[in-house]
Amino acid sequence: MSKNKEWLETAGTNTKLCHTGYDPNEYHGFVNPPVVHASTVLFPNARAMETRTQRYTYGTHGTPTTDALCAAIDELEGSAGTVLVPSGLAAISVPFLTFLSAGDHALIVDSVYSPCRHFCDTMLTRLGVEIEYYDPEIGADIARLMRPNTRLVHTEAPGSNTFEMQDIRAIADVVHRFDCVVTMDNTWATPLYFKPLDFGVDVSIHAATKYPSGHSDILMGTVSANAKCWPKLHEAHSTMGICGAPDDSYQILRGLRTMNLRLDHHFRSALKVAEWLEGRPGVSRVLHPALPSFPGHEMWKRDFKGASGVFSFVLSADTPEKIKPKAHAFLDALQLFGLGWSWGGYESLAVFVNLSDRKIRKGPQDGAVIRLQIGLEDVEDIFVDLERGFAAAASL
Ligand SMILES: *Cc1c(COP(=O)(O)O)cnc(C)c1O
Repeated sequence: MSKNKEWLETAGTNTKLCHTGYDPNEYHGFVNPPVVHASTVLFPNARAMETRTQRYTYGTHGTPTTDALCAAIDELEGSAGTVLVPSGLAAISVPFLTFLSAGDHALIVDSVYSPCRHFCDTMLTRLGVEIEYYDPEIGADIARLMRPNTRLVHTEAPGSNTFEMQDIRAIADVVHRFDCVVTMDNTWATPLYFKPLDFGVDVSIHAATKYPSGHSDILMGTVSANAKCWPKLHEAHSTMGICGAPDDSYQILRGLRTMNLRLDHHFRSALKVAEWLEGRPGVSRVLHPALPSFPGHEMWKRDFKGASGVFSFVLSADTPEKIKPKAHAFLDALQLFGLGWSWGGYESLAVFVNLSDRKIRKGPQDGAVIRLQIGLEDVEDIFVDLERGFAAAASL
C-alpha cells in the first residue's frame, strides 16, 4: 500500500473496507482498480526477462487486479499473504495439497462442509493421506488424537448446517506443540466477525462466493496464511496454476466495500427470525450460535463479533417417517425463499439438510433440519413466507 495510508490501520471496519487494498493514486486516480486481463507480460530487455526483476511477470502470478483483492484480504485477515482460487472448495483443496503428503495423518472436524469430506475421502485417501474425523466440541482434548505424523488439523466454526462451535484457540495451542498446521474454514463469520489468525490458526480459508460476492453470481476462494505458512502456500499455488480470474477478483473487491453493511443486516434479520422460530409450534430446536439457548453460545459470545445470516432449525416430526414429507411440504410452500445451494447473496434461501455423511456428530433425530439463509428482504415478508411453510408442514 502506498503513501499516507497509516491512518487506515486504526480506522473502523467500514472505513477500512472502503479504502483497503487499492490506492487510486496507483492508476491515474480512478477510484477502482483496472481489470487487467493478462497472460503475457512484456519485459524491457533480456536481462530483466532472465532475472524476472519486475513486479509482474506472467498472468498466473498476479495482476494489479488480483493484487488489490489479495491486499484487501490480507488487511482483513491479518495475514502475510493471500492466494485466490476459482472456488471456495479449491480454497480447501489447495492448502490441503500444500501441507499434506503420502503417509501423513490429517484431523478433520466432523461438522465440516460436505464437499471437503468428499475431497478427503476420495482424492486425499487415494494419495495416501490418512483422514480421521473428530468431534467439533473436542477442544484441547484434540491432544489425544494427535500422532507423530499428524500434519494438518482442519477446523470450521460454526460447523456447516448444524453450527457446532469450536474452541479454536484451545485447539491451535495444542496442535502447535506438534509439527502441524491448523487450517480454518471461516466462510460463515468472514474476517469481520472472526479473525482466525488472531486465535492461532495458520491458514484461513474463505469461500468468497458467499458474503464477499454477496450477489450469488461469482465463484471464488481465498486462502490466507501467516508468515510461517505463507512461503509454502505461495509456492504450491503457483506450482498448481490454480488462479483467480480478473473479472471475478474485481467483483469480489467491489463486494467487500459493502460487506459490513450487508452482514449487519443479515445478522439482525437472521437473529430476529431465529428468535421468532424458537418456541414456535412445529419447531423443536433452533441451531443459531447467537441464541442463548444454543450449546455453543458462550463460546460464540467470547470469540466472535457477530453472526451471519445462515442458521438451521429442526422442523418437528412425531415419527421418523414424517421427517422427509414434512420437510418437502415446508419447502414447497415457500414463495419468497428460493430452494438452492450456497448462500451469502441478497436473497433468502432454504435447504433440507442431509447429514447422512456424519461419522461422529450425528444430526438431530427429532425432525427435519432446515437451513435458512436470511437475505436482505424485509423481515416481515420473510415471516409471512415461513408461515406458509409451517401451515403446509402442519397439515401432514
Ligand atoms: C460454500 C462453502 C464452501 C465452498 O464454496 P464454493 O465457492 O461454493 O466452492 C466452502 N466452505 C464453506 C463453509 C461453504 O459454505
